[in-house]
Amino acid sequence: MTIGVNCGHTISGAGYGAVGLIKESEHTRLVGHALMEKLRAAGASVVDCTIDTANTQSEYLAAAVALANRTDLDWFISIHFNASPSRAGQGVEVYTYEGKQYQDALDVCGNIASYGFKNRGVKAGSGLYVIKNTKAKAMLIEVCFCDNEQDVSLYNSIGGADTIAQAIFNGIYDYAVTPEPVEENHDMAFEEFVEYVGEIARQDWIDRKIMLPSVVVAQAIKESARGTSELARNANALFGIKKNGWTGKTYIKAATEQKADGTYYTVDNTEWRAYGSWEESILDHNTYIAERSTDSGKTLRYGPIIGCEEYVLVCQYLQDLGYATSLTYAESLINDYIEKYDLTRFDAVEDELAPDGKLWVVQLGAYKSKRNAESFIRRLEGMGIISLLKQYNIEE
Ligand SMILES: [Zn+2]
Repeated sequence: MTIGVNCGHTISGAGYGAVGLIKESEHTRLVGHALMEKLRAAGASVVDCTIDTANTQSEYLAAAVALANRTDLDWFISIHFNASPSRAGQGVEVYTYEGKQYQDALDVCGNIASYGFKNRGVKAGSGLYVIKNTKAKAMLIEVCFCDNEQDVSLYNSIGGADTIAQAIFNGIYDYAVTPEPVEENHDMAFEEFVEYVGEIARQDWIDRKIMLPSVVVAQAIKESARGTSELARNANALFGIKKNGWTGKTYIKAATEQKADGTYYTVDNTEWRAYGSWEESILDHNTYIAERSTDSGKTLRYGPIIGCEEYVLVCQYLQDLGYATSLTYAESLINDYIEKYDLTRFDAVEDELAPDGKLWVVQLGAYKSKRNAESFIRRLEGMGIISLLKQYNIEE
């Protein structure tokens, strides 16, 4: 598959784009470059048909078309942002030759609209130079209105250029994820599945002490329908974790969410994290709990969960801190899974007792000089740590 991408307009002078709350020329490039990257990563050939400078507007257009027509393209895609004199225009629209309702064009327009932009539809763009003069099937996308406050704030809030690029990519590319060859045996009976997840969760609890194993197992069973869900089968994902900053592979399917009043709604084209194996999914789930922050790392969203040894609390925190929108999430984890299947057995970690006459000592410092030792104690006390000064022999 070969795709020509034109980041609309030049970067200065003749052919420069609209300037609203954001600059068209700047954002056509952000979207276009992200799109090209996604296409290349998916194995498509990409022809960059962007023109940065020209002496006149018509020279810019002719140069873009000349680039496009040099190669046999499956699609020529020109990216733009709209503007209107009243600044009141809103929404996404796509132009094709004679307004042909190509499925890909409808999908691109619909995917972008699914984020909340008004869907202005696929329209006739036969008068547009790049549509009329390119040999390939062509679409010109007006992502949204760069001078409209609501459109721009929506564009920013959904993740801006990268999200738009993904929506375009999903519309034009056969985006089914090709799962890596699965080396794990996924054909497990329920008991085997529980043991499999439990052992990985228990080992990670010993290694990193992030999330209590009984809760990890309960979530895995519930969220993956015992390893049979679409995400478990096609994306090796046992937990429904949305993209949220993930740079790995993603899988696209709708999300079902519940509102505070109990009613449900669907979000189409949601991007979910995809993995090479179920094990990777379990470990990433714990990493996600340990690292998820919505304020650039200043606070950890799931801080209270990390290292917490009480499953009832962990489940309640998950719900209260917004891991899931279901209003019965905590209750279900506890009653339907942890207690029903005795999952706390994975929480018990083996311990090693010191032999008779010995103790495990946590050593914070050791000094020849008593003055230095006392100064160290004062520093510890400053951190709220009470310590004991004692002479030890150092024969061992
Ligand atoms: Zn434009």
